[in-house]
Amino acid sequence: MIDTILPIPDLFAATRVLCIQPHYDDNDIAAAGTIARLTALGCEVTYVTVTNDLMGVVDGFANDDEARAALKRDQFAAASHIGVTQQHWLDYPDAGAYDYFAVRRDVLMHIRRIKPDFVMTCDPWLTYEGHRDHIQTGLAVSEAVMFAGLTRIASSDPAVDAAYQSHQIAGIAFYFTREPNAIVDITSTWPQKVAALRSYHAQFDDAGLDDLVTAFDHKSRQVAQGQTFARGEPLKVLHTSALHCGI
Ligand SMILES: [Zn+2]
Repeated sequence: MIDTILPIPDLFAATRVLCIQPHYDDNDIAAAGTIARLTALGCEVTYVTVTNDLMGVVDGFANDDEARAALKRDQFAAASHIGVTQQHWLDYPDAGAYDYFAVRRDVLMHIRRIKPDFVMTCDPWLTYEGHRDHIQTGLAVSEAVMFAGLTRIASSDPAVDAAYQSHQIAGIAFYFTREPNAIVDITSTWPQKVAALRSYHAQFDDAGLDDLVTAFDHKSRQVAQGQTFARGEPLKVLHTSALHCGI
């Protein structure tokens, strides 16, 4: 495989990172250890969640409003363990029918409003990814990162577009990837990741949380094999110009 000729940007030089996820828990399941390291360095991390995640909740809620409240309660609890302070929700129907370009417009709006110097999302080109929400989110975010400076491509808020002054996005970091080019050392933040994952009671019963932590206990050590540290999270980190035509 011939890799990009562009330099791999340094995620840990970022001061403002926007993490855009399909569901409430994806950022944390994939990258809580990395995100905890970023916030410890003083980086401001903002989450945007694309879907309402209502299909993923375990039974026991009388109605959708209760489920929404529980999902947000869990997400804020998880965030408190890893230093994330800003949350936004796009509320598209989980595993449902929604317009790709509407998602891209909303993501563009948040990028132009927040002006992150790094964006993180799931890898839409993960082989054998069966969940359309993950593919749509990763692709919409990739396009929005490429098109952020092209204000003739409208976001969902004309006022944000009118006020936007072009800024540099140093890179994009994909998690849930099969082609990582960076393994982040999360040995020191592993306890924070476990605490964050164990916050998600609306989506997992106790046995499910145990299985989740066990799976990522093994995975974090598997991806660190051959490294100088014990636990890692795999990322594909790219210069934003590497998102088009294989440069
Ligand atoms: Zn997900």
